[in-house]
Parts: sequence; structure tokens; C-alpha cells
Amino acid sequence: MQDEERVITTGFREEEDAAELSLRPHSLSEYFGQDKLKQSLTVYMQAAIARREPLDHILLYGPPGLGKTTLAGIIAAEMGHNIRVTSGPAIERAGDLASILTNLNAGDVLFIDEIHRLSHQVEEVLYPAMEDYALDIMIGKGPSARSIRLDLPKFTLIGATTRAGMLTSPLRDRFGITFRLELYSPEQLAVIVRRSAQILKIDCDRDGALEIASRSRGTPRIANRLIRRVRDFAQVKGDGSITVDIAREALNMLEVDELGLDHVDRTMLNTMIHKFGGGPVGLDTLAASTGEDASTIEDVYEPYLLQLGFLMRTPRGRVCTQAAYDHMGIKMPKPQNTSGNEQMKMEF
Ligand code: ADP
Repeated sequence: MQDEERVITTGFREEEDAAELSLRPHSLSEYFGQDKLKQSLTVYMQAAIARREPLDHILLYGPPGLGKTTLAGIIAAEMGHNIRVTSGPAIERAGDLASILTNLNAGDVLFIDEIHRLSHQVEEVLYPAMEDYALDIMIGKGPSARSIRLDLPKFTLIGATTRAGMLTSPLRDRFGITFRLELYSPEQLAVIVRRSAQILKIDCDRDGALEIASRSRGTPRIANRLIRRVRDFAQVKGDGSITVDIAREALNMLEVDELGLDHVDRTMLNTMIHKFGGGPVGLDTLAASTGEDASTIEDVYEPYLLQLGFLMRTPRGRVCTQAAYDHMGIKMPKPQNTSGNEQMKMEF
């Protein structure tokens, strides 16, 4: 299924650019949740400011829509410098990166989204830039070719990726700071929903916000998307304000269930249960039988299903848990060919 058709997609849609921009927090105090990360970050920023040095390079990783781009913007703002935003696939040639780097000012933040998608040649340019703030340029060709080194301004690179494991180790090792972003709790997301409602001038009560939050898969981008869909519903079916009843009715109509699962998640769980006896199922098999991309399953659906305890990852593949069977209203079959002892172990 195409990402555009999903209400709970974490992908970025162009027409929502403007709406999303207006909801983006601009300071750490408006950036809710991720408390441990914020605490360490504040210390590192204060230390760098006191030493009058740029902040060390930072790698942010975690599922899409959790606030990596937002955080990069906030870091630049809090350090009092500009940010230049680009992405791994957008930097096609080494020369593209060289021109971005030479146009930075001292202290600036260079944000590279999807940094795991940089080509090998581009990565090679990045290494001396990160380590020595230098750019090595080859002049001429053949035996007379020589390399000259240009000094670059001292900048901070912030790289974002959905999975840190996809980065090459030389690149990963050059980041001084690595932060993993966590899925948000419904209570934290409810605060974000109420803030967004205020900015969008939508009347949304506490329970309505919590209802939207608990169906947003721990992801602020989804929460912000759902609030706009629920607002449409509130305008047409109610008096425009979002209450828990309106939120429930709207989200049921959008087929987003009380845990935030939509029909794609349910298809995935149903396929695992009915076609593969609950697993283990390999990622590629699961992708082929649900028509989803393996990397989308791994980046978007799975983290939340794992967090809910609906899926387990085993060396032989993904397995559905008792909780997944219960949620789907399907009785879990008793394991076969196991001795009494083993069966007891599995049940506890
Ligand atoms: P990512 O780069 O991880 O895909 P973004 O930084 O683009 O995610 O965040 C998506 C949207 O979610 C932003 O537009 C912002 O409005 C909202 N958002 C993300 N994190 C937070 C947060 N901690 N507090 C408030 N809003 C947030």
C-alpha cells in the first residue's frame, strides 16, 4: 500500500509541509519528552558555549516522525547559529558536499537527514571535514594530479537516521555524541496535541487530546496529522471542538483502533497468525506476503508493535505474542511437541 493512503503514515507529505512547519517547536522548552536526551544535550551545549567552541558532531537515530529534524533546528537556534538542511540522497556527488561545506559559517549546523544513504565517495569527503575541518581536493589528473587541503569553518554536523546500524562504522565513529530518540508516552503526546491545537486554533479538551495521543503510535508527527483529520470531523459532525467522543468516532471511522493500529498493522498481524501460525516469519517473507517494503516494516510498523509487546524478534524471524492474539481476538494455539516442562516455560 502506498504511504499516502495511510492516515498514520510517518512519511512526509508535501502538502503538509507548511502545516508541519507551523507546529515545529523552536526552543528546547517547547520540545516535549525525550527528557534524558535533553538533559545531556543541555550540558554539552552549555560546555561548548563556555569554551567558545562548536558543539561536537551529533548522530540522532530513531523511527521517523519523532523529532530529529526539529531537534537539529532547536540545537542551531540555542547555539545562536544557522542551520543548513539536506539529506543523504540529495547529495549526489562529492562536489555537492564540498560546495555545501565551503558555504558554511563558523558554528553553523549542517543537518543531513537519512545520512545512511550517503554514497561512498561523498562519505570520503565527510571524514576529514568532520575530523579536521578540512577539505581535500584533487587537482589535475593522472600522474601529475595532486591533492590540496582547504580549511573549513568549524561546524557541527547533525546526522539523522532511522537505524544507527545502517551507518558504516568509520562514519559512526566520527560522531562524538549519539542520541537515540524514544517513542513518546500517550501523556507526553497529549501535551503535544494540546499545543498543536492551540497553534491551529482548534478547541480540544484534555480527554480528546489523550484519545488522539493514545492512538498516535508514540509519534508526534502522527499525532499532529490525526488532530487535523479529527478537526475536519468535529466541524462537520459536531460544533468544531474536539471531545473524547468526537475523537473516538473520527478515529474509528479512519480505522485507527484504540492502540493506534490501522488496517496495515492488522493485515500484518493477521497474515502472521493465519498464514504462518504466529511465526517465526522472516522479514522478507512478511514483506512479500503483505505487499509492504521490508525497510518500511522495519522502520515504521515494527518499532511500535515491538513496544506494545505484540511482536518478538527471534533469530529465526518475527513471532506474534499472546498480547497480539488477544488484541486481534484470536485464540492462541497451544504449542505442539513440547514436554510439560517446556510448555510451562512458554506460558510464563
Ligand atoms: P523526524 O525528523 O524525526 O522525522 P520531525 O522533526 O520532522 O521528525 O518531527 C515531526 C513533527 O513532529 C514536527 O513538525 C513537530 O511538529 C512534531 N514534533 C516532533 N517532536 C516533537 C516534540 N518533542 N515536541 C513537540 N512537537 C514535536
